[in-house]
Amino acid sequence: MFTSAARRGPAFWQLVASLGVQGLAHVGWVWQSSRGVNHNELAPAFVASALLLGGAALHPSMVRVGSAGGRPSAGITPQRVLLISSACLLSPVLLLVDGLLGVGSPDWMAASVCSVVVFLLLIVRILGLMRTVQEQSEQLESLAYLDGLTGIPNRRAWDVELERRLAVARRHGSTLVVGLIDLDHFKNYNDLLGHQAGDELLRSAGSAWQQQLRAGDLIARYGGEEFGLVMHCRLKDAAIIMDRLHEATPDGQTFSAGLAQWTGGESGEQLTARADAALYAAKREGRNRFSVAGHPSYTDLQADFVSSRH
Ligand code: GH3
Ligand code: MG
Ligand code: MG
Repeated sequence: MFTSAARRGPAFWQLVASLGVQGLAHVGWVWQSSRGVNHNELAPAFVASALLLGGAALHPSMVRVGSAGGRPSAGITPQRVLLISSACLLSPVLLLVDGLLGVGSPDWMAASVCSVVVFLLLIVRILGLMRTVQEQSEQLESLAYLDGLTGIPNRRAWDVELERRLAVARRHGSTLVVGLIDLDHFKNYNDLLGHQAGDELLRSAGSAWQQQLRAGDLIARYGGEEFGLVMHCRLKDAAIIMDRLHEATPDGQTFSAGLAQWTGGESGEQLTARADAALYAAKREGRNRFSVAGHPSYTDLQADFVSSRH
């Protein structure tokens, strides 16, 4: 709760004040009691602490305090290790101090030393386990969103990323173009050279195309020998990118592609469906070209594309 800035608001600060007042009142209470001069002078402080707690609970910003927070947890930091260690070691260290001052129980030495050792061993063990879990969850996350063969983002990443990028574009009023590209006659390539060569072509094409994209644009393996692109530009620039991808396609192979510019209102699914229809149109028109959804005027660009290749 204390480490996430996203949770701070009036309710958060009332909680902090409530805990602070209560902590100080407790210290004062114990100090007074130990000297035999406790006459309930600190009662108002406890009441104030309770009022602050109630105020926090009633404030609308309390919802934020309980929420998951903005950024994910920063994991195991030295500060956190120090904090948890000092919290665990507080009691045995107090026992030790009492013993040294001569006011502790007869077994103070054995009890405090053993407790400190056991707590330290426990902390080391817990940290080791936490680190393992953290590493595994990072590995799992990257595995879940990367395609095993090509190493580029997979279909799941595509679905998530496209929606996220559309939401950003909606917020900023920007536009984007989705492209679906499909290797031509890939089945023949497999049949002729074997599936291992086919796999290698998928790998090399994926990375070659990825290198042609601008930072921030996305390429993902959509499925089989189909790849999805999200290009943060207008159709004219997307057409230029298509030309670059064509030049970069390995082993003399070609692809067909369908492009669709986001209308600003449609869903990721509708946008992808239009790109898919354009891809089929490009296949129908003879492959080794791209076509643009809802833009017959782009036939001149298609002609450029094909002529640059032959
Ligand atoms: P078109 O020009 O119409 O796209 O024809 P095509 O042969 O490229 O398309 P088709 O859909 O007929 O065949 C796709 C082939 O892709 C069939 C399948 O065996 C192959 N394929 C899909 N995934 C993989 C893969 O991971 N590795 C390999 N080597 N081949 C794959
Ligand atoms: Mg194909
Ligand atoms: Mg295909």
